[in-house]
Amino acid sequence: MKKIAHIGIAVSSLEQTIPFYRDQLGLTFQGTEEVTSENVRVAFFKIGESAIELLEPLNDQSPIAKFIAKKGEGIHHIALDVDDIERRLENLKENGVPLINDEPKEGAHQTQVAFLHPKAANGVLFELCEKSLED
Ligand code: ZN
Repeated sequence: MKKIAHIGIAVSSLEQTIPFYRDQLGLTFQGTEEVTSENVRVAFFKIGESAIELLEPLNDQSPIAKFIAKKGEGIHHIALDVDDIERRLENLKENGVPLINDEPKEGAHQTQVAFLHPKAANGVLFELCEKSLED
């Protein structure tokens, strides 16, 4: 594991939330992007080597819509930067760690991502995140 890639925060509205992170916390806003595989629109803020990712549901099918309905807005997941996501997933599977995604899928910013099941880590949802392109 190289670093915390980002911390994901579930919000009902990016438009209403972005000004706090940009203007009050003074973080560098890096723009928004739709991640259709997750039915979300995300906004990224750079903070040192890491980032904060705000996630807004695109529709009721979105896992973020379900999360907010159940638990309200707030911290949703912690994303870890990894080098070889396929091998990581293989190892975790072999060791019987419960996963949400057996295979990596397309995430924001040309990344490959996969989620561990929160029951693997005391209710914490971890995302593995591998960059396909160097920045
Ligand atoms: Zn994420």
